[in-house]
Amino acid sequence: MSEFQSTIGDSNKIRSVSKVRRLDHTDLNIPLPTDEQNELSQDDQWDALHKAAESITTASDTGSSVGCAVLGTDQSIHTGVTIETGTEVVHAAKVAVLKARSEGAEAIDKAVVYSIDRDAGLCGNCLQLVWNTAADDFLVEFSDPSGTKRWSLNELYPQPYTLE
Ligand SMILES: [Zn+2]
Repeated sequence: MSEFQSTIGDSNKIRSVSKVRRLDHTDLNIPLPTDEQNELSQDDQWDALHKAAESITTASDTGSSVGCAVLGTDQSIHTGVTIETGTEVVHAAKVAVLKARSEGAEAIDKAVVYSIDRDAGLCGNCLQLVWNTAADDFLVEFSDPSGTKRWSLNELYPQPYTLE
């Protein structure tokens, strides 16, 4: 048995009997990654949403020319395209928001509505759903052949419907 091996009941000869001072990252001058550093920058978030909205729309075989991507407050991105079921039309924004909610996002921070061939926008029904689901400071961008416009929810829906 080497001098560093021990048997039950031996005192540990390696460990100090005096208290050990616990170091933290400030003692060592090591910066910890913050949530902010782990998150995408605002510009990166918009880029990711635009790419997601465009690719879901162009890749869709539903015939829809409108797609949407939303950013959840948990940083998750969810997409949707407008779906015609035969008896109803479910808009891309509604699909994306409900996907986000059903997959665990408590609220949405940002959205991009993308249209290949017409003005992008939100109908009243989708606006109400977005208002019900939006985090504070929610912003949406409409991207279509005429360009990209950014809106706050207050600008789009200054007098929302509430049950209170
Ligand atoms: Zn709608």
